[in-house]
Amino acid sequence: MDARGGVLAYIGLGANLGDPRAAVVSAINAIAALDRVQLTRQSSLYGSAPVDAGGNDYVNSVVEVQTALEPHALLAHLQAIENAAGRARPYRNAPRTLDLDILLFDDLVLHDETLVIPHPRMAQRAFVLRPLAEIAPALVSAAQLQAVADQSVWVL
Ligand code: AMP
Repeated sequence: MDARGGVLAYIGLGANLGDPRAAVVSAINAIAALDRVQLTRQSSLYGSAPVDAGGNDYVNSVVEVQTALEPHALLAHLQAIENAAGRARPYRNAPRTLDLDILLFDDLVLHDETLVIPHPRMAQRAFVLRPLAEIAPALVSAAQLQAVADQSVWVL
């Protein structure tokens, strides 16, 4: 908690339909425009090959925000941004216009019906760890990066 009454949270962004680069950039702008959220860092845009999913390559990024929102309120705002981007979920791991995940929320550990924090799959995903390490190197170890070094991820 800092003087402005917020904590740091990290949000992962991914898109692989339509114009995925535009979808990620406009989602970052939408996050930055949220009430009680300040965008404090944003990674480069990355490309990644789909993991456990078909379709086009993804565009990914990770942003750091300072927020006074509760985690469930932040999730609700992120889902509204996803829905506004026209996301449909015909089946699990279907290609998506926009996927927004809360990766970390301060030092919170949470597991309920709608929210699991830290995000349970972040440690297996180079497209999360690489951009997260770019903006918050202390949060990602060399061993974690090494464990996903076989996954194809590149800076756009
Ligand atoms: P997905 O289709 O993989 O984006 O999953 C979306 C669902 O994951 C939503 O219904 C959320 O309630 C749930 N969820 C659980 N933990 C998280 C998290 N840390 N960030 C975003 N969504 C989450």
